[in-house]
Amino acid sequence: MTGIDSLRNVLELERQKGYTDKAVIGGLDKYLHKQAGQIRQSINKPQLLKGFDELNLARSNYGSYSVDERKRWMANVLGWLEKLEKATKSRQQPVGRRQKAAAKPSQKRREGLDSPITIIKGISTSADKKFTKLNVRTVRDLLYFFPRRYVDYSRRKPVSELIEGEEQTTIGTIWQAKVATLGTRRGTEAIVGDETGNIRVVWFNQPYLAKTFRTNARIVLSGTVGVFKGHKVFESPEWELLEDKELIHTGRLVPVYPLTQGLYPRQVRKWTKETVDGYAWQLDDFLPSEIKTRCQLLDLPTAIAQIHYPDAQPMAGRARGRLSFDELFLLQLGVLARKRDWQEGQPGNAFSIDREVIARFLQCLPFTLTRAQERVLQEILTDLKQPKAMSRLLQGEVGSGKTVIATLALLIAAANGYQGALMAPTEVLAEQHYTNICNYLSQVGTQEPCPEPSEGTIRCYTTFLSRPLTIALLIGSLSSSEKESLHGKIKQGEVDIVVGTHALIQKEVEFNKLGLAVIDEQHRFGVLQRSALRQKGFNPHVLVMTATPIPRTMALTLYGDLDLSVIDELPPGRQVVKTKCLEPQDREKAYTFLHRQVSNGRQAFIICPLIEESEILEAKAATTEYERLSREVFPDLKLGLLHGQMPGPDKEEVMRHFRGGELDILVSTSVVEVGIDVPRASVMMVEGAERFGLSQLHQFRGRVGRDKEQGYCLLIPERVSPEARERLRLMERVHNGFSLAEKDLELRGPGEFFGTQQSGLPDLKLAKLTDLRSLELARREAMTLFQKDPDLKKVEHQPLRQQLSRAWSKGAEWS
Ligand code: ADP
Ligand code: MG
Repeated sequence: MTGIDSLRNVLELERQKGYTDKAVIGGLDKYLHKQAGQIRQSINKPQLLKGFDELNLARSNYGSYSVDERKRWMANVLGWLEKLEKATKSRQQPVGRRQKAAAKPSQKRREGLDSPITIIKGISTSADKKFTKLNVRTVRDLLYFFPRRYVDYSRRKPVSELIEGEEQTTIGTIWQAKVATLGTRRGTEAIVGDETGNIRVVWFNQPYLAKTFRTNARIVLSGTVGVFKGHKVFESPEWELLEDKELIHTGRLVPVYPLTQGLYPRQVRKWTKETVDGYAWQLDDFLPSEIKTRCQLLDLPTAIAQIHYPDAQPMAGRARGRLSFDELFLLQLGVLARKRDWQEGQPGNAFSIDREVIARFLQCLPFTLTRAQERVLQEILTDLKQPKAMSRLLQGEVGSGKTVIATLALLIAAANGYQGALMAPTEVLAEQHYTNICNYLSQVGTQEPCPEPSEGTIRCYTTFLSRPLTIALLIGSLSSSEKESLHGKIKQGEVDIVVGTHALIQKEVEFNKLGLAVIDEQHRFGVLQRSALRQKGFNPHVLVMTATPIPRTMALTLYGDLDLSVIDELPPGRQVVKTKCLEPQDREKAYTFLHRQVSNGRQAFIICPLIEESEILEAKAATTEYERLSREVFPDLKLGLLHGQMPGPDKEEVMRHFRGGELDILVSTSVVEVGIDVPRASVMMVEGAERFGLSQLHQFRGRVGRDKEQGYCLLIPERVSPEARERLRLMERVHNGFSLAEKDLELRGPGEFFGTQQSGLPDLKLAKLTDLRSLELARREAMTLFQKDPDLKKVEHQPLRQQLSRAWSKGAEWS
């Protein structure tokens, strides 16, 4: 056996023994000091000698290290050994079997990260299945299976100083342990003591422990101390026999994992510990060291080890810092790469901008554009002129006038001989857009008979361009012959503008020459749909519209592939919706108010409380409320019900009836469509208002007061803490969606934001989208790197490239 082989074996053994310096008699240092020279001689790769010398094995100081320092040291040395092995592999290959066999164990380890977790000692197939439920399949997944929190058992005390009611740890000797009847159940009772005193310890329901606890064994106990009949007693503490291993259940910051049924904390800790010790050091640290230094980040193996078993609270924080930086950084890089791919993959279509067409359109509008609309229009026109595809996110409050701008852009596409498409998340919204666009264009041109009669879902407008302009509505509920005929016309290029739902991105839909795609209410569509629509064209320009205000930095992260335009001004004379936060006992008055509004020809929404995590319960509650209101409160009015459990077509039908004025009051869960226009609706009443985010409440109230009449929003909280009331009071004073969004973030955290619902984006397990400073940092670093090496072609960026495709694999878009 060469010096190198024996070194590796010794180190492996030491690792298995839990870094207790028991692998070789006399200690590791003695062995190393003696062997270093010989090991050095057996290295026949001169370029690796420097690295070896830096390890300084001849003067190692392993014995004096803490366990964690030992681990780091070990990872370092094993890492170097691995490098050596890689370098000599090509030379070894022809040499014959023996050497190959010698290289095998570590080769197996190298594949280890992506091996199934069953290679970890003790993880059976049944445990494996349970882990699958938690999305943990490979060793790497397990390394990235982070604790939710830690229990702090790091404060150790002698037995006599244990205090009632506090979480503490003590170490003692087991004087006696036996099965005992505790109350009505059998459990284990033990007496544990140290030089300062003794304490009784009981475990309920665990009689089998008695056998594990040999008399005179040393034990660590962590938990709370209670008092029973005047004596202190440890009740069901975490325990761990003090052997030569590192403590993992007691005496430290102990990780608490989010578990599923059938997985037990002690087991899981054993497994994560084993995995961290055995595999964390194999993780390729994909972050360029320049970035790590600049941002003062831990290296990856340390971060992973420390997030599971932190030395102390600050280290847990730094581990989190590094790992959440990774998430945001990879998110940014992916998003930047995608933007680049879209823009540079194929040349886009440069439109020529016919100022006269625009002027004519604007002249015929019954209003003038706001300054914000003007500005955004110019931004869009500048993009459309470029020979690369536009990717723009248009943010603007409900009613800020996004649709006019979109219509104008679609018109320009048509004037250039291209087709345009507008995609909305629901049929009702698609119909609404269709009507609006037709209205705008009929004001501009005069509607005249077309070569083909315009009927149903196709309309034609002449005199506006030098040829007839055809607009069509494509939704799922068309008959199949209607659809087929429309598909044909779209393919032949007989339709200029198509408004539709998801039906637009079905594969049967082929465009003749798609030049511009507009997507409304972005958060309902994931990244994947966006690219599906994009693929319908020859790299068409894309305009995404959303009414949900998102702070700028967050928008840049989530939609980093898009440029940002904001309409931050409402058309003049728009009334603000009068908002009032009521007491639960004012409900009757609110009903009377609603009734009076309906008598005056208005309509109203009643939103039922949000039930977190259960649409089914929420639907039930809404149904009950609907029945109660119909029977007891408004027997003379026509009520409708809308909730998330209804089939799509039923939802659409209810919305249509409400919009058409056949219903007076719509009782709904939070599904009530964002963006829906019901001109006569004047009251928005929200039950359980404290459960909604301010942004969401703002969206709700944007549904009313859409014409000249005053709109009202009545918020009825269920339980009102002073803070909740204070928060709701903001709704009375603040009418700007962006300010409310930022307040929301401050007060409630990111849950309100739809980041998590974005399909196609990598998971964010640790990173908080509200942490704007981290977002900025990750974005800046990603842009710097992207500028230097956009394709990640450089050798030193290969690990990063791999990690990137791993992170984005769920979106299945990264190539
Ligand atoms: P959004 O899509 O942003 O919610 P819309 O484009 O539907 O808003 O516009 C809301 C209403 O305001 C429409 O009736 C529209 O005609 C009108 N509108 C749009 N821009 C202006 C403006 N500059 N001045 C007055 N009214 C406007
Ligand atoms: Mg809209």
